[in-house]
Amino acid sequence: MPGLVIVGAQWGDEGKGKVTDLLAEQADVVVRFQGGNNAGHTIVRDGEEFKLHLIPSGILHRDTTCAIGNGVVIDPKIISEEIDGLKRRGVVTANLKISANAHLIMPYHVLLDTAGEQQLGSLKIGTTRRGIGPCYADKASRLGIRVQDLLDEKILRQKIMAAMEPKRQMLRPHAKDPMLDLHAMTEEYVTYGHRLEPHIADTAHLCWDALDNGRQVLFEGAQGVLLDLDHGTYPFVTSSNPVAGAACIGAGVGPKDIDDVWGIAKAYTTRVGAGPFPSELDDEVAEHLGTVGREVGTTTGRARRTGWLDLVALRYAVRLNGMTGLVMTKLDVLSGLETLRVATRYRGEEGARFDEFPYHQSVLHHASAEYEELPGWSEDIGDVRSLEDLPAAARDYLDYISEFAGVPVKLIGVGPARDQVIWADGAEA
Ligand code: GDP
Repeated sequence: MPGLVIVGAQWGDEGKGKVTDLLAEQADVVVRFQGGNNAGHTIVRDGEEFKLHLIPSGILHRDTTCAIGNGVVIDPKIISEEIDGLKRRGVVTANLKISANAHLIMPYHVLLDTAGEQQLGSLKIGTTRRGIGPCYADKASRLGIRVQDLLDEKILRQKIMAAMEPKRQMLRPHAKDPMLDLHAMTEEYVTYGHRLEPHIADTAHLCWDALDNGRQVLFEGAQGVLLDLDHGTYPFVTSSNPVAGAACIGAGVGPKDIDDVWGIAKAYTTRVGAGPFPSELDDEVAEHLGTVGREVGTTTGRARRTGWLDLVALRYAVRLNGMTGLVMTKLDVLSGLETLRVATRYRGEEGARFDEFPYHQSVLHHASAEYEELPGWSEDIGDVRSLEDLPAAARDYLDYISEFAGVPVKLIGVGPARDQVIWADGAEA
């Protein structure tokens, strides 16, 4: 499988970091194709915890080239800090390549993000306020500043001026903010340019070279497909497209370059921020999932909302992405729950039943999940490394998911550590 796309199959935080890290070991190139530093990945390696927000998880492998594709938006301050942090811990970062066409998050994007959320009041989206949405908006308006612009001070200054002009009104309360001083901003960004220059590259070309030579390219999605700008629970979505199709645009390859698409899903469901969540719980099970699963955001530190596994949404995600496999993470978190539930249908406000994920926002907002009950298990499964050694109820749970979603489960997570996984076919992929 030279071209493998990995996407979050739910609302993000599915444990993609660890899975990508595992798969990166066999990949020659790992490329991120969308999102920004709102994607927090936690990877545990030899007992050491790494938190990455922008740099692909593959960076921990010396022989893997890690690319940040053109579809990603980059805060140069954050990526510089991330590079420095990794270097300090002895991680080699020479293999990090940054697309010259990727767009940059500017100080005014961060200010506009916060101002926008404040204006929305109770309708706020729950963005991470890192300027990512406004950056993508500028990209679409043809007012974006790209990585390559950092290498030419004159062009950079002109572009910043042009980009700030239409924002004057909204930025008025911050007129005296030194962050918005044209001269200082240009200087600061030129400095980032110098620091990042060794990493700036034609990342699409790099992917073609690898694919054309039969080497493995792993396309690493951020967030989750239910947060997709077009196909998620709009407007409570992210400002890019986390679906597998976006790997082509955000990395610069064609649909035929994609051989496999794996969706990562937790054995239950979580969501950060506002928006519909039909299988959400607010009881002792929610507390169990939150506590045992340590459901606190990597990037934001916010407590996540929790609920039962939503198979209606998962089946939608499978179809939308043309998934060929599922990775079920955090199965261990369900240990100790006597009875498990999985959402198999939604019930609308007036009693209507929905077997499919509803396209209409109002329907979804009022939908509540209807469940199938499955027996739970009490055993600790953290040390299990093969399907046969799982409690029968855990195997039945996985079989039920796979059958309902229509794709095989390839890999199962049974704990946070790197080796706490079960490969469904008994061998590593
Ligand atoms: P990501 O953005 O999708 O990578 O998700 P996060 O990094 O926000 O959350 C994943 C968290 O779950 C990390 O702390 C992981 O170490 C942890 N994790 C990943 N897989 C498993 C698993 O199978 N079981 C348990 N208990 N924790 C896991």
